[in-house]
Amino acid sequence: MKITDDVYALDSTKGNYSYLISGDENILVDTGRPGQGKGILNELESMNIKPGDIKHILFTHHDIDHIGNAALLQQATGATLWASKEDIPYIYGDVNRPGVKGLFSFLSFFMRFKKPENLKSYGNDKIDDVEVIATPGHTPGHVCLIYKDVLFAGDLVRSSKGQLQTISSFMNVDEDAIKESIKKLDGYSFNWVCPAHGEPVKRVNVWKQLIENLN
Ligand SMILES: [Zn+2]
Repeated sequence: MKITDDVYALDSTKGNYSYLISGDENILVDTGRPGQGKGILNELESMNIKPGDIKHILFTHHDIDHIGNAALLQQATGATLWASKEDIPYIYGDVNRPGVKGLFSFLSFFMRFKKPENLKSYGNDKIDDVEVIATPGHTPGHVCLIYKDVLFAGDLVRSSKGQLQTISSFMNVDEDAIKESIKKLDGYSFNWVCPAHGEPVKRVNVWKQLIENLN
């Protein structure tokens, strides 16, 4: 699904969207849940993008429905993989996910989840034209990404029926941090909000409502 001239939500990952930035270099934002990797590659091929054309894969956070095909796509594309230094140990499985997410990690074993290797951690620099903004709360090292007028929100917020809302509290490590992260983004310029869960929405009106709902 085309969002802007060079941003696409990958239909093969509907429900936990991975996004394609088709700029000077092709970039994937997140990789869907285990089992969706082949579908992602097929969808890219249908857009005339070869695996080797993907240069970077950027993770918003460590949850399994976002890193599910990290290893498969790393192998297929040869892309550089990026995540926050706080979330990388969870991706490698060096640190157990807290609470209910520990169960997901356990289940991912049965979903044949493979770990990626050689993840790079975000620094202060942009990756191509993508700005990385620390937005902790859903996970310790959750980030949002801004490319041109598009905010990739990861799981900081989700959309439902055209409105934005935060993810259910039992899925978050720090509710107060989420509020601070959302308020921090208020100062940034973007027209589109692209969450992993729910459909992309225009910022106009819904963002203001989201901020009001926090108070
Ligand atoms: Zn998610």
